[in-house]
Amino acid sequence: MWDSSTQRAMVANSTPLVDPFGRAISYLRVSVTDRCDLRCVYCMSEDMAFLPKRDLLTLEELDQLCSVFVRRGVRKLRITGGEPLVRRNIMSLFQGLSRHLASGALDELTLTTNGSQLARYAAELAGCGVKRVNVSLDTRDPAKFHQITRWGDLSKVMEGLDAAQEAGLHVKLNAVALKGVNEDEIESLMEWAHGRGMDLTLIEVMPLGEIETQRVDQFLPLSQVRARLLDRYTLDDLSERSGGPARYVRVRETGGKLGFITPLSHNFCESCNRVRLTCTGQLFMCLGQEDVADLRTPLREGSPDRLDRAIDDAIARKPKGHDFIIDRRHNRPAVARHMSMTGG
Ligand code: SAM
Ligand code: SF4
Repeated sequence: MWDSSTQRAMVANSTPLVDPFGRAISYLRVSVTDRCDLRCVYCMSEDMAFLPKRDLLTLEELDQLCSVFVRRGVRKLRITGGEPLVRRNIMSLFQGLSRHLASGALDELTLTTNGSQLARYAAELAGCGVKRVNVSLDTRDPAKFHQITRWGDLSKVMEGLDAAQEAGLHVKLNAVALKGVNEDEIESLMEWAHGRGMDLTLIEVMPLGEIETQRVDQFLPLSQVRARLLDRYTLDDLSERSGGPARYVRVRETGGKLGFITPLSHNFCESCNRVRLTCTGQLFMCLGQEDVADLRTPLREGSPDRLDRAIDDAIARKPKGHDFIIDRRHNRPAVARHMSMTGG
């Protein structure tokens, strides 16, 4: 940890992070591990090689980096992975970061999880000031869940959802729309989620990392799903934007909120307010581009100035947008890394 005089000096630089396109960076996603207890077919290959543990930042270092971003104007932190809840002692990171909620420097501390360990941690997360969690769930069919995740147990996720709601956490479900896999289940998943007071966001498969299946065989355009939903439901567009890719509607018949994340059929970059930190201290300025900045070296050099400069240089390189394509001719991943490296 930095000593107190260094920390005092750091207070000086609270210049907000604004990229060359005038977008203020107010949202940091942090992948705290590339490991996971599941192997979702669209996310990982079956025999994923994970990073050696020695390459990971410690939880204290992750806290330090997050805190620098908070000082520079980040108002929202999302902890993700891999599966964040499999990282040993992860609650200590949440406990530490909750001080920024208490001080008012941070508006929101949240996480994205597959839910498999949520039953164990939900109450503790709520105690750290976490108000909302995103839980990824593509199907309510146990056999399909097992097939999609390669070995997951749906009942664990269901226990996690119960525990989260009992702890007072607001739950949003994320479901990746998969052609021929869960496409016939979207209506029932939505009705069930809305019936339990959970919003649902549908995600288009993104071409990240090599996997066994051809992306084009998984890809289900959400424009098709939306058109089909319109046969049965009234979808009222909501104006709210999170600075991210989701567009929301209110489903009049259920009263619940439904989101569409469509990186392929729609570009969502003009309002992008986020950057992504990996568990090795690399900063990705765009989910769909390869450019990356190393923050681990300046962090470990113990020089707050150098770290601030590295962050400024990185933000100055934030690209205008990405250009994902999935079709038969473009069957290579748009970027080589898997989603588990940068977190969703
Ligand atoms: N393990 C946690 C989970 O599953 O929620 C957090 C990390 S996971 C990488 C974050 C989100 O990314 C999940 O909702 C997952 O479904 C989604 N995801 C993973 N690979 C994807 C891909 N290639 N395209 C679209 N979404 C993907
Ligand atoms: Fe694990 Fe999440 Fe990727 Fe599924 S989507 S393999 S749960 S990191």
